[in-house]
Amino acid sequence: MSQVVRGVVARAKGAPVTIENVVVPDPGPGEAIVKIQACGVCHTDLHYREGGINDEFPFLLGHEAAGTVEAVGEGVTNVAPGDYVVLNWRAVCGQCRSCLKGKPWYCFSTFNATQKMTLEDGTVLSPALGIGAFIEKTLVHSGQCTKVDPTAPATAAGLLGCGVMAGLGAAMNTGGVGRGDSVAVFGCGGVGDAAIAGAHLAGATTIVAIDLDDRKLEWAKQFGATHSCNAGTTDPVEYVKSVTGGNGADVCIDAVGHPAVYRQAFDARDLAGTVVLVGVPNPTATIELPFIEVFGRGGALKSSWYGDCLPSRDFPMLIDLYQQGRLDLDRFVSETISIDDVEEAFHKMERGEVLRSVVVM
Ligand SMILES: [Zn+2]
Ligand SMILES: [Zn+2]
Repeated sequence: MSQVVRGVVARAKGAPVTIENVVVPDPGPGEAIVKIQACGVCHTDLHYREGGINDEFPFLLGHEAAGTVEAVGEGVTNVAPGDYVVLNWRAVCGQCRSCLKGKPWYCFSTFNATQKMTLEDGTVLSPALGIGAFIEKTLVHSGQCTKVDPTAPATAAGLLGCGVMAGLGAAMNTGGVGRGDSVAVFGCGGVGDAAIAGAHLAGATTIVAIDLDDRKLEWAKQFGATHSCNAGTTDPVEYVKSVTGGNGADVCIDAVGHPAVYRQAFDARDLAGTVVLVGVPNPTATIELPFIEVFGRGGALKSSWYGDCLPSRDFPMLIDLYQQGRLDLDRFVSETISIDDVEEAFHKMERGEVLRSVVVM
């Protein structure tokens, strides 16, 4: 028996989101139904609504969520009804060329549910990032469910499902930040602040936050930034060098994805340092770099997809650190809202007023 539940749908490019009745089929082989408890509002949801991802409207939005498994389909062994899970969009296949090389965090063939959720008239919905979690219950592949400590509140745990994991992983996984490193983070929204928190966790001793908004720089300090720089009034490259003995930072993280910012990250890096790009660029953007500097500075220019996370490895570990008071996930939650308030939350996000609005079901 399929179920009908309420969900947040983007019907057309740029149109305000609406609450719709969504038909959720019973889980088929390899699938699971998850009763959503909380789901963060991410920039990617807004990009879907604006047609910036693709044109496969209507979208069922939401993808940063935690909840409880309600039912599983045939052959599912990793989760059972009642399990408390964080949803992920990297259900690794175990068989693609990257998984076979022992690098499942790059998996090139991740799983999503096979069946489709629909509107009541049968219109097929495209779930954001293969999840769709601004909804009472959603249908996912069982591999998209990662069990974590059930005593962690869903408002905090769900954040690991996307932006916060991307930022933490940009520092800890992609950037390989270690004890005593210096780190510069360009852009201090949710992803950038998570990169700062990740650098702090990993033992970085100098962490420079860079943004154009003094309010965001204040937030960044609360996540562990030791220095801050308003790039509107101070040259960030010179500033990073000034607080790193004139050398530049070991790891520079671009959480914006703008060519000018990337160039700053490139220039603010010490010899043999690493640049990590975690901000998503506009598809039309190009960059130009002095080629001799690419060679002469050595090190690595890397991109970070979803923080190069492996959900089964990283989510339970990060929740444990949260429970021990070593990773303040609650600080990312600017407000909790109802499923009816997602459109307003987009506007607050556009105005830079919130790190995360989290829908509580
Ligand atoms: Zn794979
Ligand atoms: Zn996201």
